[in-house]
Amino acid sequence: MRSPQKIELMEKIISLCKRRGFIFPSSEIYGGFGSGYDYGPLGVELKQNIKKAWWKEMIYKHENIVGLDSSILMNPQVWRASGHLKAGFSDLLVECKKCHKRFKGDEVKNVCPECGGKLTQPRKFNLMMKTFVGPVEKESSLIYLRAETAQGIYVNFKNVLNSMRLKVPFGIAQIGKAFRNEINPKNFIYRTREFEQMEMEWFCHPKDASKFFDYWKKERIKWYQKLGIKKEHLRIKEIPKDDLPHYAKEGADIEYKFPFGWGELEAIHNRGDWDLSNHSRFSGQDLSYLDPETKERYFPYIVETSAGVDRSLLAFLSEAYQEIKGARTKTTKPTKEVEIVLSLNKDLAPIKIAVLPLVRNKKELVKKAKEIYQTLKIFFRCQYDEVGSIGRRYRRQDEIGTLFAVTVDFETLQKEDVTVRDRDTMEQERVKIKDLVEFFKKKLED
Ligand code: ATP
Repeated sequence: MRSPQKIELMEKIISLCKRRGFIFPSSEIYGGFGSGYDYGPLGVELKQNIKKAWWKEMIYKHENIVGLDSSILMNPQVWRASGHLKAGFSDLLVECKKCHKRFKGDEVKNVCPECGGKLTQPRKFNLMMKTFVGPVEKESSLIYLRAETAQGIYVNFKNVLNSMRLKVPFGIAQIGKAFRNEINPKNFIYRTREFEQMEMEWFCHPKDASKFFDYWKKERIKWYQKLGIKKEHLRIKEIPKDDLPHYAKEGADIEYKFPFGWGELEAIHNRGDWDLSNHSRFSGQDLSYLDPETKERYFPYIVETSAGVDRSLLAFLSEAYQEIKGARTKTTKPTKEVEIVLSLNKDLAPIKIAVLPLVRNKKELVKKAKEIYQTLKIFFRCQYDEVGSIGRRYRRQDEIGTLFAVTVDFETLQKEDVTVRDRDTMEQERVKIKDLVEFFKKKLED
């Protein structure tokens, strides 16, 4: 049972997302659309920053991992070979005989959680989304929207191997949209029908696969922690042999303690040679690997790390959301009000620096502040704000996780310096305008 506080926290996060331009319901003016969400101006920045941090971690940090951007629409044979069109990629569907709501069979017992009505017997429901190519909607033009980005990587294994002159072990990483006809989308952006994945497929010798499976579990947990998620909010759930998906030899989920309870953030699997051997069989192309030194020929095993961009974003937001009682801002009078601070990691915060003239009815201050903004925005993601009292503006910036506020006041005009306020410590220090770029570079770069 979810506690009211947990539901309340989730609602507060959803409300903040809407109010501050992070996430909006899709097609809202038409009453929304299923589980769809649109990322607003700040949400898209946050999402890009998460993807950038992952890309940097996986690709730039490892000399033997390369990137790929494969297409969403693929030859339907891919999904036959992968097993997605079979029962393996299905959920159990049950329907309430009274209110006709549908649920995932493994999430409910015999009665409808909504109205108490009786449920139908579970039946298998394939999650692949279908569409047609070309002008005629016939069986032979039926194709699927990809349900994971990974298949685009497997079918390009030889292309990447040969063009980049790689040697096993190596990895191919990709970020992109995936689609699943989920029976019961829920918990905001946690489970939707259209979502984004960050997947890395690690090709290795079969004897090393278990070792790499353990290695990648550790590495991936570290990544979330590095970006601000507390250790106690993360856990590894090893998947028992009997519950493993059809393609896997070993599996584990990295779970996060979301406001609604523990939930999967990322899946790590040792997929054995399932993918390369099946694609070889179905395509008639030999996808085995010849070791140039030992001359051994084999199908590399694949260890996969598969993370959700949207789920990561929800985890980072949930972790960062803080309510602080009483005014934090020195310029406002003491108050019992609650201030919201989004303490996002520096690499993730959508806006790094806000530039604020102390008041907006003094032309010289506004002019100076705009000049500073123009200089800083070349180097960092900045926002200029002159509307409302300075205290309100600080609070507005805290609520969206802005790391620093630069305030241009009357002293600035005499001394050519500004106040820099730190979101987390709320320390304020005077910095010369000419030193600002270097000052922030030091603070923001690794
Ligand atoms: P779940 O059990 O929660 O349905 P899954 O085990 O089917 O997830 P995987 O197939 O392992 O998920 O996909 C890898 C990752 O992709 C997940 O850990 C998750 O972050 C993301 N993901 C999968 N399905 C969805 C979805 N419907 N909405 C948002 N993200 C998803």
